[in-house]
Amino acid sequence: MVIDNYMRIIEKISKISGIDKEEIERKIEAKRAKLSGLISKEGAAQVVAAELGISFDNEKLKIEELLPGMRKVNVVGKVTKIFPTRTFKTKTGEDGKVANMFIADETSNIKVVLWDTNAIALLDTGKVAEGSTIEILNGSMRDNEIHLGSFSEIKPTEQILGEVKTGKTFREKPISELKNSDNAIVRAFIVQSFEPRFFYVCPNCRKKANQEDGGFFCPDHGKVAAEKRALMNIIIDDGTETIRTVAFHDTLRDLGFVNLEDFTEISKQRENIMGKEMIFQGNVRSNKLFNTPEFIVEKIEEVNPDLLIAQLENN
Ligand SMILES: [Zn+2]
Repeated sequence: MVIDNYMRIIEKISKISGIDKEEIERKIEAKRAKLSGLISKEGAAQVVAAELGISFDNEKLKIEELLPGMRKVNVVGKVTKIFPTRTFKTKTGEDGKVANMFIADETSNIKVVLWDTNAIALLDTGKVAEGSTIEILNGSMRDNEIHLGSFSEIKPTEQILGEVKTGKTFREKPISELKNSDNAIVRAFIVQSFEPRFFYVCPNCRKKANQEDGGFFCPDHGKVAAEKRALMNIIIDDGTETIRTVAFHDTLRDLGFVNLEDFTEISKQRENIMGKEMIFQGNVRSNKLFNTPEFIVEKIEEVNPDLLIAQLENN
C-alpha cells in the first residue's frame, strides 16, 4: 500500500517530466542518501519533483498522494465525519471560526480544516453534510491535514467515488519525523530488547483484568478466568533515530516467538531478534512515565525480499 503510493508519485513525476521511472527512482534514492535518509521516500520524491520544475499544483490527486507541504491541492472525497464548529478569539480580538471534518476516497482518508466563514457556512446550512461528495480546490497541506483558507474552494460534486477507505491509514515515515498519535510504518533494525513482561486480560472483552484476592477481575465482567498475555519492549533504529517500541502478544509471534507463556523461553530467544530488519506498523503515543514518544506496534512484517532485491539492483 505504501509502496503503491510511492510508485504512483513516481509515475506522476515521470508522466509530467518525460523522464523514465527508473531514472527518477535513482534521483530519489540519491537525494535520500545525500540527506542521510533523513526524509521519507515520498518526501524525497517531492524534493526531486521540485528540482525538475514539476509542481503538483492544481493536479487532481488521490488522498494517499497528498504530501505535507503541498500547495494548491485539488481533491475529491466523501465527507465521513463533521465535527461541531468551534469559535475562538483571533489575535486582534475578533471572533474566529474553525471547522474540522474527515473526507475519504478509495485510497485513504484525511482531516480537512476549514478557516473560511463561507466554507463553514456550507456545513452549518447542511449543504455539505456527512455522506456528501465534495470537491476541494486550492487547499494547502499542513502536516497531514488539508487546510482551507479564503482562497480555497469547497463544493458538492456529482462525481461518483468507489468504496471509500475509512479505517486508520498508515504512512511510511522515518523515525526522526514521528509525532504523537501518528499512524506510521517504519522499516528499521531491532537494536535492543528487554525482558518480556506479562499481564492478564478478560477473555470476554480483552480489557486488562486486575488481580485481587487470588482471582482476576474485569471492570465489566467481574470475576473471570483471565488470559495471560506477553509484551516486550524493544528499541528500533532506522538510521535517522531510535524509538522505544512496544510489541504485544500477537506481534511477538510476528517476531518469531512461539511459546508466549514461557518467560524463560522468550528470554532465551531474545538474542535471535537482535539486528533483524523488519517493517513495523503502529501508533505513536507519549510514554507517560518518561514523557518520550513510544511506538505501539500492531503488525510486524518481514522486509519483502523481492522488493529489497529490486532496490539493490537499482543502486
Ligand atoms: Zn471483560
